[in-house]
Amino acid sequence: MADRLPPRTQIGWQVFRRVGFRPHDTIGGLNISLVRYESHCATCGAHFEAFAAQNNWRKREIARRCDGHRRPGGYVDNLSPPLPLAALPAWARPQTDPKKLKASLGRRYHHCWLLKKGERLRIFEPKEAERRREEWRARHRAELAASRKPAAVLPSYLN
Ligand SMILES: [Zn+2]
Repeated sequence: MADRLPPRTQIGWQVFRRVGFRPHDTIGGLNISLVRYESHCATCGAHFEAFAAQNNWRKREIARRCDGHRRPGGYVDNLSPPLPLAALPAWARPQTDPKKLKASLGRRYHHCWLLKKGERLRIFEPKEAERRREEWRARHRAELAASRKPAAVLPSYLN
């Protein structure tokens, strides 16, 4: 059973690699084995290791941050990593080809919410992501300025 688990899984840019198992006794008295996996923290980009129940590993309900940045369920920008992809080891570089992604993740686990049909996963490096955020802010400021009503002209008797 255990060896049918995907050895590697991916959510957006973030790649998780299975590195082993650890026996674990549940409160109910069952002896199960947890998946030990490694990845890079979604907040700081540091390498970390964590454990997950096998079903959670399959469903990718797994920790995405190092112990210092633990924030279960917290928002992760799946399209831009906190550090350049070139800084990651080869195993941690994300697949972007939709066909390969599908193959590596299995039919049920492809990135349907990130990828449109036949589209590559488009990942923005930190510098590009920052540039896009800056562009967005500038556009937002300009729109705000344009929508602001001109100052009311005071009636002359108030002078
Ligand atoms: Zn971290």
